[in-house]
Amino acid sequence: MIRTRAYAAQSKTSALAPFEVSRRSPGPEDVQIEILFCGVCHSDLHTARDEWHNTLYPSVPGHEIVGRVVAVGDQVRNFKAGDLAGVGCMVDSCGHCPSCAEGEEQYCENGFTGTYNGPVFGGENTYGGYSQTLVVKESFVLHIRHDEQDLARVAPLLCAGITTYSPLRHWGAGPGKKVGMVGLGGLGHMGVKIARAMGAHVVLFTTSASKVEDGKRLGAHEVCISTHPEQMAAYANQLDFILNTVAAPHNLDAYLHLLKRDGTMTLVGAPAEPHPSPGVFNLIFKRRRVAGSLIGGIRETQEMLDFCAEHDLASDIEIIPIDYINTAYERMLKSDVKYRFVIDMASLQQPSDGRQESSR
Ligand code: NAP
Ligand code: ZN
Repeated sequence: MIRTRAYAAQSKTSALAPFEVSRRSPGPEDVQIEILFCGVCHSDLHTARDEWHNTLYPSVPGHEIVGRVVAVGDQVRNFKAGDLAGVGCMVDSCGHCPSCAEGEEQYCENGFTGTYNGPVFGGENTYGGYSQTLVVKESFVLHIRHDEQDLARVAPLLCAGITTYSPLRHWGAGPGKKVGMVGLGGLGHMGVKIARAMGAHVVLFTTSASKVEDGKRLGAHEVCISTHPEQMAAYANQLDFILNTVAAPHNLDAYLHLLKRDGTMTLVGAPAEPHPSPGVFNLIFKRRRVAGSLIGGIRETQEMLDFCAEHDLASDIEIIPIDYINTAYERMLKSDVKYRFVIDMASLQQPSDGRQESSR
């Protein structure tokens, strides 16, 4: 067993604090990774605070993990010590159901194993990336092809990147398509960058007037402040596809009537409380659809990482030491982050007092 420093929540009301967890020694198919950076996803907060009512404690969140391989098992073929590597939201799945066979492990019919919080259908807890070391089966480890100096900005791709890339690809975002992105947070800002790089015409919908200029800098062709009814009215029946990344319950009808006939709004935001049910006439009169999408499979995650490396895309981040995590959660709840906190894991060894900002 390998003992590793970590940060954990011990209950839904306790702040995250230093904790030690054990990792298995690498087996023949395992890769051992020294974690260098870990992004802070809103799902980490939902889980640490048991907002989805399924949290196993102690809870060590973190599923936007990048680091360096330090050891590999003797059957590992595609990684060696010294390589950069990434791990996202999953560390295992059954491997034989129809979804796994199609490379859609996130929809594993027997339940994938989350990087934290264990198998989705229940089982032993797993501990995520707010820690120094991780041991993961090779088939769930990703190659990082960005320059090493961009590593911290690559971390958020492992969840925010794939969770937006996958539905944008699935619903055909590209040239000639008008795509709406709802919410400019961790997911939304990657969604804007990726949809733009795919060639779509991108309209950002934000509740924050202060994010209009950033929205354009990040790649949106147009920005609409969603709390202004007259701005929203201008987009009625205009959009082919909407990706809704909002982490709080809200009125979906405000966006549904922006879709063209046969348009789809896909929800990736997973609020603790349900959205009010959309009005049925908004759906039936134009054959519109509301859909959902969960992260993406391992093959597609590698495709997304390679796409982002090729298009020089990475996240806009604020680097934090781990002892800032509880403040970071409070700021995330106020939409006060541009646009992803990333933990510098060196701070688990040496307490640090400063933060750096970096963006692309
Ligand atoms: P985030 O960084 O907090 O961003 C959420 C954004 O939603 C905010 O920046 C804000 O954008 C908007 N927003 C927040 N509260 C709002 C409200 N009351 N009304 C309207 N807009 C509001 O969160 P994130 O990390 O991107 O995650 C977003 C959601 O996706 C979370 O629920 C997370 O758990 C979920 N998630 C799902 C998957 C999946 O596989 N489906 C994967 C990862 C995360 P503006 O300021 O621009 O309005
Ligand atoms: Zn996430």
